Amino acid sequence: MENNAILEVKNVHKRFTSKNVVVKAVTDVSFSVEKGQTIGIVGESGCGKTTLGRCIVRAYEASEGEVYYRTEAGEEVDFLKIDKKKMKEIRKEIQMIFQDPYSSLDPRMTVLDIIKEPLKANYPKMSKAEMDKKAIEMAVKVGLNPSYLMRYPHAFSGGQRQRIGIARALVLNPRIIVCDEAVSALDVSIQAQVINLLKDLQKEFGLTYLFISHDLSVVEHISDRVGVMYLGKMVEYGETEQIFAHPKHPYTEALMSAVPVADPTFRQERIPLKGEIPNPANPPSGCYFHTRCRYCRQKCKEVAPEYKEIEPGHFVACHYAKELNLRGFEYTE
Ligand code: SF4
Repeated sequence: MENNAILEVKNVHKRFTSKNVVVKAVTDVSFSVEKGQTIGIVGESGCGKTTLGRCIVRAYEASEGEVYYRTEAGEEVDFLKIDKKKMKEIRKEIQMIFQDPYSSLDPRMTVLDIIKEPLKANYPKMSKAEMDKKAIEMAVKVGLNPSYLMRYPHAFSGGQRQRIGIARALVLNPRIIVCDEAVSALDVSIQAQVINLLKDLQKEFGLTYLFISHDLSVVEHISDRVGVMYLGKMVEYGETEQIFAHPKHPYTEALMSAVPVADPTFRQERIPLKGEIPNPANPPSGCYFHTRCRYCRQKCKEVAPEYKEIEPGHFVACHYAKELNLRGFEYTE
């Protein structure tokens, strides 16, 4: 592992098989995450970003690859290969926040019990009083009114329910949080509040986030680095500023042209993405993006581009990454 990395994802693949059809949901994805950073993973729905997140927290077993994690004690472990006992110990350090705050909260439990649940599962000897104390402290940290904690999730708004999900994820003092479309179901103003809360908590607890979203404007706002996925593959990865100002993959350029700007006088030409996302059970030959790429040449149809570092920290999978003059996100206030 690199010295300052907390997580290193190496050549991870995830294949699902159904009725003898193999679907490659994630193909050969590699990247590393520094402690305290936020990595945004973006792409259209069905690109494999959620599957990747679930492989990282081992909610799905990856078909191949390694996910190295540096524990709080400084030990390097391959999270995909450790035994159950070790995994239980380490899982406390890696938590997940889900997209739909309502369906991820048990409607029959009070909010206090929901926040306490991970403590019960991981610290069976902890006293009830101590669990209550920790859960209430965390509820207050995420901006929930402690006098409402005996209520049930249906009594809370979408934004408050997402705060409950955040408190539940944080109560075990994790080091990494995988946020899977964590703000996608919320109104824009509530999204901003939850993102600001996540940023404040990151500062306070030194958290590292893997932020999975289809929404590039949200990812731009929160991430230090961005990874762009297409049909299960990482096609571009780098510093957020680098990716937004100077994208090197045509798919990133097209996604960026569709980012809405809150300025009615601003006009950015939208680059249409032709056609549908191909079927991952039957991906195109050569570059997976060639059926929708406006720069496609003959070679793209025949040869898969290598995913390589074209400048320090900037990885791209495109034959013509260095010669194409792609348009970045040009908006300036
Ligand atoms: Fe487009 Fe070819 Fe680059 Fe693929 S390799 S993104 S088809 S230019």
